[in-house]
Amino acid sequence: MGAIEVAGVTVQTDHWIDGHRVPSAETFTDISPVDEVELGRIAAGGAPEVDAAVEAARRAFPEWAALPIDERAAVLHRIADGIEARVEDLAIVETTDNGSLLRSHRRGVMPRCAMNFRYFADAVRELAHPDREIRGHRQRISYQPAGVAAIITPWNAPLMLATWRIGPALASGNCVVLKPPEWAPLTASLLADITAEAGLPPGVFNVVQGTGPEAGAALSAHPGINRLAFTGSVPTAGTVATAAARNIVPLSFELGGKSPLLVFADADFELAVTLAVEQFDNSGQVCLGAFRILVEESIAEDFLAAVVDKARGIIQGDPRDEETDISCLISRPHFDKVSAFVDRATSAGASVVLGGTPNTELGHLYYSPTILVDAEPGSEILTEEVFGPVLTVQTFRTEDEAVRMANDTRFGLAATLVTGDRDRAERVSSALSAGTVWVNCFFVRDLGAPFGGNGKSGIGREGGVWSFDFYSDIQNTVFAPQGWRQDPSQQS
Ligand code: NAD
Repeated sequence: MGAIEVAGVTVQTDHWIDGHRVPSAETFTDISPVDEVELGRIAAGGAPEVDAAVEAARRAFPEWAALPIDERAAVLHRIADGIEARVEDLAIVETTDNGSLLRSHRRGVMPRCAMNFRYFADAVRELAHPDREIRGHRQRISYQPAGVAAIITPWNAPLMLATWRIGPALASGNCVVLKPPEWAPLTASLLADITAEAGLPPGVFNVVQGTGPEAGAALSAHPGINRLAFTGSVPTAGTVATAAARNIVPLSFELGGKSPLLVFADADFELAVTLAVEQFDNSGQVCLGAFRILVEESIAEDFLAAVVDKARGIIQGDPRDEETDISCLISRPHFDKVSAFVDRATSAGASVVLGGTPNTELGHLYYSPTILVDAEPGSEILTEEVFGPVLTVQTFRTEDEAVRMANDTRFGLAATLVTGDRDRAERVSSALSAGTVWVNCFFVRDLGAPFGGNGKSGIGREGGVWSFDFYSDIQNTVFAPQGWRQDPSQQS
């Protein structure tokens, strides 16, 4: 049985299948992006481990699905208790594994992971539709668990994005097989410990560690899964969708973005500047990030100067330090990809007004906050997701032009607008093509609200009842009144 010590926390490195730790002959190396030091070797699963996990989930399903909803909810609340009790461990392990800020894990992210169980445990009890009378018959709409939910997650917020799917999947009575990201696999393993301590029956939750092309591919193509929730990039989504299509498995996809931030001349200037600089959070490794700043021409010069000035105050450094604002990128390949994006943009005519290079003082995987202007319309830097600390600034003259530029993307995850004019806020927000629109705010998210993207940003919505719609087979049952006989002339 394999285990490693990460900042004083013991983390099991094997899979978690049917309530047991299961090793693999193959392993992969987990590297901390904070300092590029090897953390250890993690079990690398493939088809055999995925088979075992899906079979375990299928075996556990009838009993878990049949458990009274209150009892299911009680287990999920105990998982949430377990997460809250281990916030410090989860926070330091996640930070070490993916380089995002320790302080935000402690204060925001890990408590939110617990909420992902609590919210859906409570919400599932409110789910029943009232029976309705239809032409003298009684109609009942009920939610039945779908079966085995396969969940594949990315590295930028590993435990948050996993629990956001696992919570509603389990609450609805499904069993789960999770394939965590190979770049940040560790908190999934701690979650397995927590679920066991909370009394979740063996097989209800399984973790198969491994790479995308091996473990991820085997899971998405598995004929024994009934739902596939994938969070990741558009290219991978295409491969995953193709594999799942053979088995006609319903998909929920949360993918990339290239979201706009629209700043009108009537905006609260300070607020707009703050929101722009906030886009550097997590070194820009945020799917919802508004990396295309569109600003009204009349204020553009002052606005850009103020954004650059404020961005110069960003403290980049070790994610474990309290004062650090942004840290490193996830991996060497990703670092090279971000650098290459900026280099190609400047070669194609964009000008750098801030950063534009790796942070040579910090070395390793630290890339400086970067702001580019004068990019050619339609150029790669304005259209492709960089997933790094790179903002572009463009100007517009009219509201129509602003909306046109904002919607000029194949993505549609989110959009943010800053304006002091309420009528404009109404008009522009409804004209924007995005799953989430923020007006004079950013990243305000509620678990009861629908979340998802338009266009290439995803398929479907999750959150609140939309999650239950996805993880359930929804049944319509019609009861005839006693003694009723079918009248052939009434049939439709
Ligand atoms: P990725 O697509 O490379 O990997 C995501 C997951 O898919 C990983 O677990 C990976 O192992 C797995 N995978 C890779 N190849 C696979 C294959 N052939 N079959 C099955 N699984 C496979 O994405 P990433 O680099 O880990 O994450 C960054 C991307 O995720 C960005 O595009 C970002 O916008 C997106 N994202 C979206 C949201 C959202 O809610 N919309 C949230 C976070 C991240």
